[in-house]
Amino acid sequence: MDRVDCVVIGAGVVGLAVARKLAQAGREVIVLEEAEAIGTVTSSRNSEVIHAGIYYRAGSWMARMCVAGKHALYRYCAERGIPHKNCGKLIVATSPKETEKLQSIKAHAEANGVLDMQLLSGEAARALEPALACDAALLSPSTGIIDSHSYMLSLRGEAEDAGAAFAFHTPLIRAKAAAGLIEIDAGGEAPMTLQCSLLVNAAGLSATHVARSIDGMPLDRIPPAYLAKGNYFSCNARAPFSRLIYPVPEPGGLGVHLTLDMAGQARFGPDVEWIETIDYEVDPSRAERFYPAIRKYWPTLPDGALMPSYSGIRPKIVPPAVATQDFLMQGPRDHGVAGLINLFGIESPGLTSSLAIADHVAELADIDSVSRSG
Ligand SMILES: Cc1cc2nc3c(=O)[nH]c(=O)nc-3n(C[C@H](O)[C@H](O)[C@H](O)COP(=O)(O)OP(=O)(O)OC[C@H]3O[C@@H](n4cnc5c(N)ncnc54)[C@H](O)[C@@H]3O)c2cc1C
Repeated sequence: MDRVDCVVIGAGVVGLAVARKLAQAGREVIVLEEAEAIGTVTSSRNSEVIHAGIYYRAGSWMARMCVAGKHALYRYCAERGIPHKNCGKLIVATSPKETEKLQSIKAHAEANGVLDMQLLSGEAARALEPALACDAALLSPSTGIIDSHSYMLSLRGEAEDAGAAFAFHTPLIRAKAAAGLIEIDAGGEAPMTLQCSLLVNAAGLSATHVARSIDGMPLDRIPPAYLAKGNYFSCNARAPFSRLIYPVPEPGGLGVHLTLDMAGQARFGPDVEWIETIDYEVDPSRAERFYPAIRKYWPTLPDGALMPSYSGIRPKIVPPAVATQDFLMQGPRDHGVAGLINLFGIESPGLTSSLAIADHVAELADIDSVSRSG
């Protein structure tokens, strides 16, 4: 049986950041990925927004990882020429009741360490975005967008430069933890059995399933899994905005917001649709709910402009009735299995947080890093 120091399951943005971190810390790393390439699942089905860290519960992992990850990610992109844009975002209030909420959103952001938010009158907001209809707005200058594929290619390249190896078409089938080592059976085209001293489960939507496949992992430490799909609509009219536009959040979601890709193309969404099985089809009839929501802040959105685009699925570990979840990052002290790290519920802001999550994984693994992120 082959012996390797560290195995990372999953080559999404989080697995890639972790593999890079471990390899640059001098560890021997192999990444097992069941798909044919990096980043084919949730990491290529998101909004590609570098989030500021505004809404997450103060002190939560999401709040901490997002703010630390945002700074690390901007630095990382700037140093390597990864396409990104610090375009900023406006949270827009379209009624007096919503205007009242802006102050508390700003205070909440400040508690998370996001100190640059600015309250704007409707007029001041329109000076930035003339097509906008709103009573008032909150400007988040540190929000941005990123070409996530260039970022993932860079992470992979740096991981490989530091000695990490990638095995594609290679799913983890089962594993067994015993006596400080973890034995892994991988399937696919070239089935193999590996023994490692550190296993990082970064399998995204399948993380709970992977954890269940590990003999020795206490079942009562594995959270339940739920799927919350987010549907996007593209816009065949040129949207006249240069910043991301978000309504004031409503209970259960961020509202129908406008994000831009690096080419300036607008997309709307994601909404929230709880589903039982993985299915990425976008139901065109959901557009009916998008039009009135978007027209509150962009009244001139033309009829027929919205086209079903793509969807992503949030790996939820709490049911619909629970409003918020947090990242659940477990090390040996949490579940008692030596050498195992599980990353559960890594939904948004997982892309923004990826470098910070990798740093945290290194801490959970008690690795003395020879490098810092970014
Ligand atoms: C709709 C939506 C919008 C989002 N928008 C944003 C955003 O704007 N900004 C932001 O910061 N975050 C955003 N996110 C969150 C972000 O996309 C995720 O947090 C991030 O992509 C998670 O990366 P990951 O590597 O954990 O998972 P994934 O990208 O899903 O990667 C997991 C990998 O594991 C592999 N795998 C699974 N099982 C096995 C197995 N048994 N063996 C081997 N390999 C396996 C899969 O093939 C996959 O490649 C969004 C998420 C969604 C759903």
